[in-house]
Amino acid sequence: MKKENCIFCKIAAGEIPSCTIYEDEEVRVILDLGPASKGHALILPKEHYDDVCSLDAKLAAKMLPLAARIGEAMKKGLGCAGFNLVQNNGEAAGQTVFHFHIHIIPRYDGGPDIVSWTPGISSAEDLAETGEKIRNAM
Ligand code: AMP
Ligand code: ZN
Repeated sequence: MKKENCIFCKIAAGEIPSCTIYEDEEVRVILDLGPASKGHALILPKEHYDDVCSLDAKLAAKMLPLAARIGEAMKKGLGCAGFNLVQNNGEAAGQTVFHFHIHIIPRYDGGPDIVSWTPGISSAEDLAETGEKIRNAM
């Protein structure tokens, strides 16, 4: 299903032009218009899913190997040293376009430094309590 007024539905369908680096019947991979680094790409399913929670499982299984293939091509074609896969779910997590997508962000020696956080501190009790809350909710 497509969602009306969803920009990624329109890009994935080819109704809005994009720099496409891969396409098949289920997905389109485009270059991000506001790249975090040179070559930053997005995997977009052609069907609309708001986020990973509603994503079709078969499609999900296809996207990780595709992301790896594109990351390898970035290393070969752009000379990056590595790459991050980033996938935001919900506004609080930084999602700005509510059509599922996976970011593939090339990482070059010398920067830019992008996906990072300062490690916090957690006691064994904290971890046990937190883990139990998640396990009980599954
Ligand atoms: P997120 O914050 O995870 O929802 O990521 C949305 C991404 O989409 C951002 O990195 C934007 O730069 C990118 N973006 C938004 N509109 C377009 C567009 N028309 N073409 C390509 N990338 C886009
Ligand atoms: Zn959409």
